[in-house]
Amino acid sequence: MQIYADNAATTKMSRTAIDAMLPYLEEIYGNPSSLHSIGQRAKDALMEARQRAASVLGCQAREITFTSGGSEADNQAILTAAAIGAKTGKKHIVSTAFEHHAVLHTLDALKKQGFEITLLDIRENGLITPNQITEAIRPETCLVSVMYANNEIGTIQPIPEIGQICWEKGVLFHTDAVQAFGHLPIHVTEQQIDMLSLSAHKFYGPKGVGLLYCRRGIPLTNVIYGGAQEGGKRAGTENVPGIMGMTAAMEEAAANIERNRRKTVLLRDRLIRELSAIPHSILNGDQEKRLPGNVNFCFEGVDGESLLLMLDQKGIAASSGSACASGSLDPSHVLLALGRPYELALSSLRLTINENNTEEEIDFIAASVSETVDKLRKLSPVWQDLLSGRRDFVTKE
Ligand SMILES: *Cc1c(COP(=O)(O)O)cnc(C)c1O
Repeated sequence: MQIYADNAATTKMSRTAIDAMLPYLEEIYGNPSSLHSIGQRAKDALMEARQRAASVLGCQAREITFTSGGSEADNQAILTAAAIGAKTGKKHIVSTAFEHHAVLHTLDALKKQGFEITLLDIRENGLITPNQITEAIRPETCLVSVMYANNEIGTIQPIPEIGQICWEKGVLFHTDAVQAFGHLPIHVTEQQIDMLSLSAHKFYGPKGVGLLYCRRGIPLTNVIYGGAQEGGKRAGTENVPGIMGMTAAMEEAAANIERNRRKTVLLRDRLIRELSAIPHSILNGDQEKRLPGNVNFCFEGVDGESLLLMLDQKGIAASSGSACASGSLDPSHVLLALGRPYELALSSLRLTINENNTEEEIDFIAASVSETVDKLRKLSPVWQDLLSGRRDFVTKE
């Protein structure tokens, strides 16, 4: 059996998204800045795509900037707020400890430039409260940036409430909605979001394309300088095929949210139930307020990386944490932020399923994980120490 359970890392493109791209690879390949008709046809398509993307998000076309993906959109949103803050002497930013590295590393760079960063504690369930935001905002705060849903543990933050608080306090609010889009209803105007990042390859669109919604009146800062594309705020020949594929994927995902959610939640809860039966396992992140397809566990005494590789041999594609952190031996910053001890954080497994998985696949995943955890524990010196009492268990039986 081949089972793909790593949809938080990236998704397989939908047929709709591929079909939407093909004409712009094969026929209408002109540069939208060219004056000839093949260029102008590409320009028309781009205009139409911007309008369609705006309709899905509940904003105006001119509030959409197409980018190379989620990372670029996150960088541009944060640097925009920082530039505005620097001009008015407001150099304090509020965010959380479990943001994506595209946010955290941009904040690190701003810290070196004299910004003060408050990273809110996400507590043991992986959620912040609106009250934490209220208390963290100061007169010199220029930005609040909180991700809509987390890429590792799938927890969903109270975004409309945070939007309301920021609006009342007159502070810019950015949300990285890369994982949330296609799973949760998003309307930037109703939810009082000033800036929002999306990435197409997380919702069955192509890789290397995303967008930044930025409310009108907020002057965007360039991350890439050059030509006058995207209103002069993002230089570079537009990725027209990618943008067309993303727009089609956005419409498709938004139209199917409810149906996909219902199917996926049943599969997710079945998998959580089955994996919870493994002794000394613990679910990471709140069980209710989590993305429909996200399952993330720690298995005490097991090396997460070995578990991942052995599951791959059984045909199951999973993740030990975030794809960006793989290849390094550091435990996930998200699990550490949850308060998981260092050793336990290294024993994690993330399975991100979708509506196309079957119950049979879920049962096969659960049986494979159970068998592999057993096998790895038998070989693990840490597990022997736990059994003999030389080391204390952190998790319950
Ligand atoms: C994948 C991801 C990103 C980065 O998006 P890219 O398009 O791969 O640059 C940013 N934030 C979150 C939450 C993500 O899951």
